[in-house]
Amino acid sequence: MPDMDTIVSLCKRRGFVFQGSEIYGGIGGFWDYGPLGVELKNNIKRAWWKAMVQDRGDIVGVDAAIIMNPNVWRASGHVETFSDPLVECKSCHHRFRADQLKSDACPNCGNKGTMTEPRQFNLLFKTHVGPVEDDAAVAYLRPETAQGIFVNFLNVQQSMRRKVPFGIAQVGRSFRNEIITGNFIFRDREFEQMEMEFFVKPGTEDGWHDHWRDERLAWWRKTMNITDDHIRVKVIRREGTTIIGPDPHDVETEKPPHYSKGNYDIEYKFPMGWSEIEGIASRTDYDLTAHQKLSGKSLEYFDDETKEKYIPYVVEPAMGVDRAVLVALFESYQEEKVRDEKRVVLRLPKPLAPIKVAVLPLARNRPEIVAKAEELTVALRPHMMTVYDDSAAIGRLYRRQDEIGTLYCVTVDHQSVLADDAKYDGKVTIRERDSMEQIRVPIAEVKNVLLEKLSA
Ligand SMILES: [Zn+2]
Repeated sequence: MPDMDTIVSLCKRRGFVFQGSEIYGGIGGFWDYGPLGVELKNNIKRAWWKAMVQDRGDIVGVDAAIIMNPNVWRASGHVETFSDPLVECKSCHHRFRADQLKSDACPNCGNKGTMTEPRQFNLLFKTHVGPVEDDAAVAYLRPETAQGIFVNFLNVQQSMRRKVPFGIAQVGRSFRNEIITGNFIFRDREFEQMEMEFFVKPGTEDGWHDHWRDERLAWWRKTMNITDDHIRVKVIRREGTTIIGPDPHDVETEKPPHYSKGNYDIEYKFPMGWSEIEGIASRTDYDLTAHQKLSGKSLEYFDDETKEKYIPYVVEPAMGVDRAVLVALFESYQEEKVRDEKRVVLRLPKPLAPIKVAVLPLARNRPEIVAKAEELTVALRPHMMTVYDDSAAIGRLYRRQDEIGTLYCVTVDHQSVLADDAKYDGKVTIRERDSMEQIRVPIAEVKNVLLEKLSA
């Protein structure tokens, strides 16, 4: 597996991820996705939405506002308790999370015993709604998308005539004013989440919790093509913490969050160690009950068949899109030797690859070849993400496309178009990224051959 610097450098060089506001020196914990990054990210979101909404009959989507009535965050407990212990070094004035300090020495200046007593630092980003900046106008940028689902539970259930068990899925930005950010896009202050709240009858939640653990683990393996020794599940229960998968002894005891009966954390083996990429929480009726209490509005579900009224329990698979981008890059990055030269290849699975096909003219000084390559590019564009590149020699163009995970290169050469060429065949070469195998295909058939390969 590559180290973090290799991935960060690839991301900047090839237009996946840039430092946010880079020309002003950046701003900690904010990143901008470039042309290839936004494609990869959209492909990951599409894969999630397909698996969670389109392919199932029991989940529907919403897209709630980022700024909500501040009472939402009072009910959820975020205003009161969403905080980390903050300490400051009295010599260098750097700030740290007390629970992440390994010793009493300052990680910045090295002085010992210079830390202040910890105080609770709330991670909510505050803003004001309307023209008056007083306390009554305070609002928060959402720290999770889940609450936008909970407050719409009955709206969705009734408008869509849903019966429990059913789920509501959402993809959207969230914001946390983390004390310490780091590991590139792993821990950001602005990030994107994909969360699904699955509403079930109380008493059936344990079965659903296991169901969603298996579903989500299978999604990660399949979507990212993750090898077995890079992914595992951490089981966090009140009675203890255990691991399903590799390195079972490498785990510290944790308590589930206050709203949860238990968590399954899916972890990926990053260069910085095993880290969470998705949490599957058994949230009980904690959130709906809290909103019912503070709003004074009933959030009970009425079961037509059994004539029972109850507040459903909730099982929540929740993941970060940015972390998924990182997993996709780490898992697919490979360096290999080809004819004594280093080849970097991003073996992204087909649905995730930002560019599906690159059309390359073998000789850019031959107008007929260039014209045919451009014509082919235009013909392919409506069907798949296609680029045209004539800015270097063919070997170099192949290497560039391999490095960004482009699945196929189509090369137009003399034989393809020059009727006076002795070997004229009216065909082009399709080169496959992983095997580097090349086949000759008549120009008129290129589109269908590629579409077939992409759907295989
Ligand atoms: Zn210090």
